[in-house]
Amino acid sequence: MRFFYFLITLLLTMAATLIWQDKPEYVFAIHGGAGAMSRDKMTPELEAQYRAGLEEALSAGETVLKSGGSAEDAVIAAITLLEDNPLFNAGKGAVLTNAGTAELDASIMSGRTGLAGAIAGVKTIRNPILAARLVMDSSEHVMLTGKGAETFASSHGLKTVKNSYFITPQRQEQLRKVKEEEKASGKHADAGQYDPSGKKFGTVGAVALDRNGNLAAGTSTGGMTNKRYGRVGDAPIIGAGTYANNNTCAVSCTGHGEYFIRNVVAYDLAAMLEYTGKTLEDAANQIIFKKLKTIGGEGGLIAVDKQGNVAMPFNSEGMYRGYLNSKGERMVAIYKD
Ligand code: ASP
Repeated sequence: MRFFYFLITLLLTMAATLIWQDKPEYVFAIHGGAGAMSRDKMTPELEAQYRAGLEEALSAGETVLKSGGSAEDAVIAAITLLEDNPLFNAGKGAVLTNAGTAELDASIMSGRTGLAGAIAGVKTIRNPILAARLVMDSSEHVMLTGKGAETFASSHGLKTVKNSYFITPQRQEQLRKVKEEEKASGKHADAGQYDPSGKKFGTVGAVALDRNGNLAAGTSTGGMTNKRYGRVGDAPIIGAGTYANNNTCAVSCTGHGEYFIRNVVAYDLAAMLEYTGKTLEDAANQIIFKKLKTIGGEGGLIAVDKQGNVAMPFNSEGMYRGYLNSKGERMVAIYKD
């Protein structure tokens, strides 16, 4: 009998060790937005540029995580690069408001401390994600908006730029087209009710699990083309577009923000893990393909859980995305296959 117990304990220990060894030491995932990016409009050159941008951002996160850096630092390293890359809808190259300006939103959350920082509707902060981090690390607040956020960021030495720095001819053309469609359809183009066909989103985000087992998530965006009245999407809202908790997972969302806010998507995913024991993949699929899809909420998310599992579901035509881990797995993809 004693031998029997010994054997069982030995087998269980071996199984636990195997599972433990299987857990990657670090994991990093990014997205560059979800939406309608039809293949026929994508040239091989443009696709190569998108892929290069994603690879570069992945590598920036990897460099931090490999050397034992924090999940927060990895998220910041990747998002600042994506913000500086005019292809993505964040920082330079952000989509434009109805007035033709760029108004930026960003947020970050640490799963280790449970602290978070966000900024919304800023026009002059060169890297909004750095401002979000400043709010998290150097203020007692969670979210600052508009002029106040800009004053706070510049008083802490963050780089500011003229609004024209963010504006690219491609986004001006995109705005012109959306306004034209709005005129033709006669529908009020208030972001949230109106989704002109062919318009892609393109927010950026990152989630990380570091060598110390800490999680972090961040998201940055220009919002939605033709937005007005100071519209704010899900990206800077903790629990909607961004969430991280060391006990569950780190999440960054992209898509039609109003749906993500109303369904508290990022927190919903973490809550499912915490309260139902669902796997990350099952919970993420349920939200994106059942909950959101049935009500017309287009978009996707990236998430990593405390065991290092990754989920990247999206219900739109594509989602710029990529992930890597310490075991040498690495991928970048745009469409479903
Ligand atoms: N979620 C963003 C927003 O609604 C848009 C996007 O993901 O591209 O502001």
